[in-house]
Amino acid sequence: MKIVESRSEAYAQVAQWRQAGASVGLVPTMGALHAGHYALADRSSKECDKSVATIFVNPTQFAPHEDLSRYPRTIDDDLQGLRERQTDLVFIPQPEELYPAGFSTYVEPSNVALPLEGVFRPTHFRGVTTIVLKLFNILPATVGYFGQKDFQQLTVIRRMVDDLNIPIRVEGCEIVREPDGLALSSRNRYLSSGQRQTALSLSRALSAVSEQAGDGNVSVEQLEQTMHRIMRNAGIERIDYACIVDRNTLESLPQLDRPAVALIAAHVGDTRLIDNVLL
Ligand code: AMP
Repeated sequence: MKIVESRSEAYAQVAQWRQAGASVGLVPTMGALHAGHYALADRSSKECDKSVATIFVNPTQFAPHEDLSRYPRTIDDDLQGLRERQTDLVFIPQPEELYPAGFSTYVEPSNVALPLEGVFRPTHFRGVTTIVLKLFNILPATVGYFGQKDFQQLTVIRRMVDDLNIPIRVEGCEIVREPDGLALSSRNRYLSSGQRQTALSLSRALSAVSEQAGDGNVSVEQLEQTMHRIMRNAGIERIDYACIVDRNTLESLPQLDRPAVALIAAHVGDTRLIDNVLL
């Protein structure tokens, strides 16, 4: 497994593979890797001739009050895990490599970035679209693998790829969960064992609405109330949103009469967690 820090080396390697006719899978991450990330890396190395991962805690997607400086960094374990997943190349740039002095151009995300996360993290998706396009340019892969755990992010990236005619196929991968339902997240390591119990109420709330929707309840208002009730009863005081929206446009819905998704963002102590389920 080759590890590179420079843009030019990363580009040269991927371009050489592509010129030789190889398909290349790309798995962008912020590190602190877990089984959710490794599921993407496994798929990439299974489906593509060459597999590339990136580890970069992207400053432009964090607001000043967020956890950029304390974001977990476990680089040695990450590299070992990626090696075991037959990753061929890992790009680990320093921040100055991607944001040199004078950097000032951003990708403006589409309207699907405005609701939900967009309300609570107004500059977040601009940072995401900008870094993802930069990575697509530096590592001109055939397929990019992204998790449905970040459902709105996946939607924003798909829209960007379509709108800007970026020559890459985007694949969404299912959410990987702990046996008890907790969605894997690098931020789970911030949780104490008591907080982890409380955090389980996110996936329990989503399972409950999934079941109720399966039983024929089409009232979005009632289903949203169910999610709020389950999380409040578990002791969550700060719920940013617990919403059911159109799966494609992310616009709100009065009735469950089309493919939808239930999404939650909530705070457990100082840790902000997100999760979702398709309905
Ligand atoms: P992050 O390092 O949090 O930026 O995540 C990197 C990629 O891994 C993103 O495409 C995430 O959606 C994906 N990912 C994170 N957690 C999970 C999970 N539990 N299951 C599947 N994919 C995930």
